[in-house]
Amino acid sequence: MRILVTNDDGAGAPGLHALAVALSDLGEVTVVAPDGQRSASGHAITIAHPLRLNMIERAAPYCVYALTGTPADCVKVGVSVVLQAAPDLVVSGINYGANSGANVTYSGTVSGAREGAMLGLPSIAVSLEASDHPDFAFSARVAREIARWVGSGRPGAGLLYNVNVPALPPDRIRGIRLTRHGHSRMIDAFERRLDPHHQPYYWMAWERMFHDEDPNSDGHAVYSGFVSVTPLLLEQTDRRAIEQMKAAGFEEIEGRLLLR
Ligand code: MN
Repeated sequence: MRILVTNDDGAGAPGLHALAVALSDLGEVTVVAPDGQRSASGHAITIAHPLRLNMIERAAPYCVYALTGTPADCVKVGVSVVLQAAPDLVVSGINYGANSGANVTYSGTVSGAREGAMLGLPSIAVSLEASDHPDFAFSARVAREIARWVGSGRPGAGLLYNVNVPALPPDRIRGIRLTRHGHSRMIDAFERRLDPHHQPYYWMAWERMFHDEDPNSDGHAVYSGFVSVTPLLLEQTDRRAIEQMKAAGFEEIEGRLLLR
C-alpha cells in the first residue's frame, strides 16, 4: 500500500512523525507537508506564488518533503509531482488540537484529507485534542487501525473520515463513537495589544465556549472521552431546501422576475 501523509502543523511537527511511523507498518509512506505552521488555513491552494519543494529527510522508513504551500497544495503536489501516481491512501495529521464542529471548516488538517477525497482517494484526517503534554502515540495507533480499514478498499467515493482523539491516557478512553459533524465552535474573542510604536493590534484568543450537546456529535464525543470518527461527504447540497424552494415556486416565479 502506498500512503501519502500530510498535515497543517508543518513538516517538523511531532504528530506528523508519530503518524508516519505508525503507518509505515501498513505500507510505503511518503510525507509531503507544509514547510511551516499552516493551521486554520482551510482548503486554500496557492495560485499566485510558486511552490518550492525540498526533500528534508530521506532516512528510512519514509521520505519527508517540505512544500512552501498549504495542506491541499501538499496533497496535489504529493500525487502529481512526488509520487506521480495515485496513492492507495491519504492521511492528514496528527493535528495538535481537535477538529470538530466549526473547526472542520477552518482546519488545514481536514482539508488535506478533503483534497485526497476530491482526487478520488480514500482519505483520513486525524487530530488529537489539545493538552499541555500531547502524547501522539495512542492517536497514531488509532490512526493505523482506521487506515487499515479505510485502505482495504471498503469505503465509497466522495467522502473522507475525520478522526478526533481525546487528550486522555489510553486506559481512560471510553471507546470509539461514530458521529455526525456537529456545531461546536469558538465564540470569537480578540486580545487588543499595543506594539512598540503604540499602535494597537489584535490577536485571536481561543476560548471554547459553545459545545454541541448532541451526544452523536463529533465535539461532544471527544469531550466525553470517546474517539470520534465522522464520515464527511464532499457534497454539501441541501436537497430539502431545493424541494422547499421548488414547492414555493422559486424557479417559476422568482426566476422569471430575476431574469426579466
Ligand atoms: Mn494544526
